[in-house]
Amino acid sequence: MLLNKINEVRAEVKRWRAEGLKVGLVPTMGALHEGHLSLIKRAKAECDKVVVSVFVNPIQFGPSEDFDKYPRTLEADTTLCDNESVDIVFAPNANEMYGGGRLSNDTLTYVCPPYFFVDKLCGKSRVGHFDGVCTVVMKLFNIVQPDFAYFGQKDAQQVIIIKKMVKDLNIPIEIIQCPIVREESGLALSSRNKYLSEQGKKDALVLNKILNNIKSCYKKGVTDIESLKETAYSFLTEKHELEYLEIYNCNDLEEQKEANDESIALIACRVDGVRLIDNIYFKEV
Ligand code: AMP
Repeated sequence: MLLNKINEVRAEVKRWRAEGLKVGLVPTMGALHEGHLSLIKRAKAECDKVVVSVFVNPIQFGPSEDFDKYPRTLEADTTLCDNESVDIVFAPNANEMYGGGRLSNDTLTYVCPPYFFVDKLCGKSRVGHFDGVCTVVMKLFNIVQPDFAYFGQKDAQQVIIIKKMVKDLNIPIEIIQCPIVREESGLALSSRNKYLSEQGKKDALVLNKILNNIKSCYKKGVTDIESLKETAYSFLTEKHELEYLEIYNCNDLEEQKEANDESIALIACRVDGVRLIDNIYFKEV
């Protein structure tokens, strides 16, 4: 069922709750692919009812980012959700979510995650991004009031920040983190892969190669973080504009001097002008 209005979703979920049903939420920005579908399938397997939100959230995009050209494919998304027997596709417009006013933190209440978690990785170049993410996720949590909410490890910093928000604000929702789905080539699926040329798709494999190489060096006994990071440079060419490559603790994004089984390597790199991110846990979780 496709719903656009907050009150309609609330009313439907209220009926489910009255029957004691377990509700799962999968927040997305649409342009659904197998990565999203893995979250949806897991939610369907673990919950009685599943809501998938499809909302390209304006307040998590910076002024020079791709909000206008972000792919919007609601019809195809709805068909994919129907095929998975999703109970509600919630696709509000910005007016429904935020009212007609100006979208800024002078006029709207924002949920802002702590500086320590945002002043690094994607948060460093995407100033305000995680304020926008936490604000919309908090709103979706309040609208749907799910028992479980599903997020991908693909956006590792995001899921760590959401878990922190849930803990700090005592939100009674369990966050389920799902593994990264990749193409056979190793490229992590992303709605932004649509912007890549055929050659760009090949060049983009470098992200995964760098991460796998770092992990295999760690497995062979290299633990010095700088030495591990340096192994990346032999893979990079003029086609790759590296934004960051970091190795942190996977639970709290603390810096480490020596890698261990709690380490995660995270990379952001532009290929063909498209900003891509990927990450790898040193020990699979
Ligand atoms: P997005 O539509 O990009 O906001 O993503 C919605 C959810 O899908 C987020 O929790 C993402 O982490 C997750 N996701 C996106 N791509 C993948 C992927 N390749 N594998 C697993 N989860 C993914």
